[in-house]
Amino acid sequence: MKRIENYDLSSHNTFRMKVRCALYIEYETVEELQKLPWKELPQPIMHIGAGSNLLFTGDFPGTVLHSAVKFMKFVDMGLDDVLMTVGSGVVFDDFVARTCEAGLWGAENLSLIPGEVGASAVQNIGAYGAEVKDIISGVVCLDTTDWSKTVFKTPELAYGYRDSMFKHNKGRYIVTSVLFRLTRKYSPRLDYGGIRNALESQYPGITTAAAASAVSNGAHVLTPRMVRDAIIGIRRAKLPDPAEKGSAGSFFKNPVISREHFENIVKAEAGRAAAGVPALEVPHFDLPDGTVKVPAAWMIDRCGFRGAEKGGAKVYEKQPLVIVNESGNALPGDIISLEQDIISKVRETFGVELHPEVEHV
Ligand SMILES: Cc1cc2nc3c(=O)[nH]c(=O)nc-3n(C[C@H](O)[C@H](O)[C@H](O)COP(=O)(O)OP(=O)(O)OC[C@H]3O[C@@H](n4cnc5c(N)ncnc54)[C@H](O)[C@@H]3O)c2cc1C
Repeated sequence: MKRIENYDLSSHNTFRMKVRCALYIEYETVEELQKLPWKELPQPIMHIGAGSNLLFTGDFPGTVLHSAVKFMKFVDMGLDDVLMTVGSGVVFDDFVARTCEAGLWGAENLSLIPGEVGASAVQNIGAYGAEVKDIISGVVCLDTTDWSKTVFKTPELAYGYRDSMFKHNKGRYIVTSVLFRLTRKYSPRLDYGGIRNALESQYPGITTAAAASAVSNGAHVLTPRMVRDAIIGIRRAKLPDPAEKGSAGSFFKNPVISREHFENIVKAEAGRAAAGVPALEVPHFDLPDGTVKVPAAWMIDRCGFRGAEKGGAKVYEKQPLVIVNESGNALPGDIISLEQDIISKVRETFGVELHPEVEHV
């Protein structure tokens, strides 16, 4: 177990904020975690993963806990389904790579999402039409109210868009391992974000029904590994690599607004055209309850923030939903100041309130 006082957290948050905590504890086993003298530790206590969804707004006065529980085990090799138990401290993408190498479907669309397995179950991470909840079978936790081990089945976790029961009981449960269900059954999901095009341009004809039926005859055509590689290629072209440029991925959630509000935005765009400014089609997704989701990235771009800078912080040129630590020395205040400028301008322009997806600590 590592236990370090006045610890520099800059390598534990992908924004690379140079902040410190009063005490940092990294445990390797659940037993070590259970034995911690909880009440004697500097308060408050916070559990982090890789810090890839966090913005530290200053030094943290309490204790930061981190899991180094790192194991990956196949526990049930059924005919189709395979169960795998994975420690909370495993890098999520290492788990995805392992499933793809084993030819298992289910995790491949979640390739290259930063962070660790424990947080993936808290965040319900998602990308390219997949969410981690779809492959989670259960989550093993410690309940910090009585230190009992609790195993939650997926329906008990109230999963929603980047949401879970854990987020509504902050600090109560520490995820120690996650049980995943993968499958050998041919089940690629290719209709999102250009995956099919990327595969077809590399292997013409591979995503067709004929290729799929060849699989049912035993031929290996499209594999989870190929889908993973295509997604990695797409993500690398659009998103900053945390190893090169600090960020926490998508900074804002995509707002959901009423249809009437959406139609007013469309009318305003038409009005701009009348005023000689080129009107843009407003991208949107109609939701089943009649509301409309509008990409925050579009609004931020439309307000002119692509590439905007504040101190060392910048709106990422290739994806305006991302704020980056451009200089490498950005202060939390630079990021917050840019965030506030964006929120105010989007509110003023579209009457829409943006909310950060990144957790401010
Ligand atoms: C470049 C980039 C791209 C990204 N792309 C995506 C994407 O495509 N899709 C997506 O969904 N997200 C994406 N993210 C966001 C981020 O990767 C996820 O939110 C990830 O799950 C965070 O994991 P982490 O280990 O870094 O957790 P942290 O950021 O350290 O923590 C996140 C939350 O989980 C809690 N937590 C962490 N570990 C535990 C534990 N063991 N038990 C209980 N609570 C815990 C923390 O207290 C905190 O509330 C991206 C981030 C970056 C930097």
